[in-house]
Amino acid sequence: MAVLVVGSVAFDTVKTSSEVADEVLGGSGTYCAYAASFFAPVWLMSPVGEDLPAEHLAAMRQRGIDTSAIQVVKGGRTFRWVGRYSEDFLDRTTEQVELNVFGDYDTTLAPACRGAEYVFLANGAPQAQKAVVEQLERPRMVLLDTMDHWIENEREALDDVLGHVDGLLVNDEEARLLTGERNLLRAARRMSEMGPRVVLIKKGEHGSLLVADGRPFAVPAWLTETVKDPTGAGDCFGGALIGHLARTGDVSFESLKSAVSYGTVVASFCIEDFSVGRLQALTLEEIEQRRRDFASMVSWS
Ligand code: AMP
Repeated sequence: MAVLVVGSVAFDTVKTSSEVADEVLGGSGTYCAYAASFFAPVWLMSPVGEDLPAEHLAAMRQRGIDTSAIQVVKGGRTFRWVGRYSEDFLDRTTEQVELNVFGDYDTTLAPACRGAEYVFLANGAPQAQKAVVEQLERPRMVLLDTMDHWIENEREALDDVLGHVDGLLVNDEEARLLTGERNLLRAARRMSEMGPRVVLIKKGEHGSLLVADGRPFAVPAWLTETVKDPTGAGDCFGGALIGHLARTGDVSFESLKSAVSYGTVVASFCIEDFSVGRLQALTLEEIEQRRRDFASMVSWS
């Protein structure tokens, strides 16, 4: 089963305490599509400007990502984002955002994409996310990602789209902002009451929490000493997760638990390099091996 990813394709400038990556390929849609591509065929829908080098799209196609739904806007400029990390990578400051073509784009789905059953609405305006959901003919699992900007500035539109999706993916701060609850289990339950059957809370280096059908499941993050750039980890978590669901065609609680483990593992690879560097070199065998190691890291008798 194919996955449809709708989200940004961007030029990211990432500043860490030791290095700066200038205008490298990024974007929530990009990371998500790369992560999902290990498990299922993927369509990526996003607007880009004429300034995006064709080789970025060629590399996506090489990974099995269908780029036919990427709209190259004539005379347009691609989305740009500039972020700076603290020395321990625990804090990130957004220094600059230029929406450019991503600010207001045509959300009309190509006919082939309307039949997508597994859909990831990566971070973006809730109005655009709703417009996409409304065109889907037979969705089985629509996951939505959002961020503080939309929670604070577009709350009504966000509440509206939450009533039309199956899953919500947020980080711990966003969960608290959305619900006013400090306790994350309580926050997850509150978010379920807003519509989604599945709620996923990303806790960065502390792992993630899944609450689906009222049942909780928690995993830590993969323990690693190799962090080069955490950008896109959350999108990779979501992409691998929906990719696994599409691969199995199973959206049960047990399948969601496996999907969380794949999400955790692919996110851990993403942060080993800037941009999609590590994802381009990654293989499914490496993912499966780390997932086995992860299983032994978290199990006991
Ligand atoms: P993450 O680290 O998972 O939060 O994702 C970071 C990615 O999201 C970067 O590659 C950015 O280009 C992209 N991004 C940042 N802000 C936005 C936004 N407002 N809308 C869409 N994508 C964004």
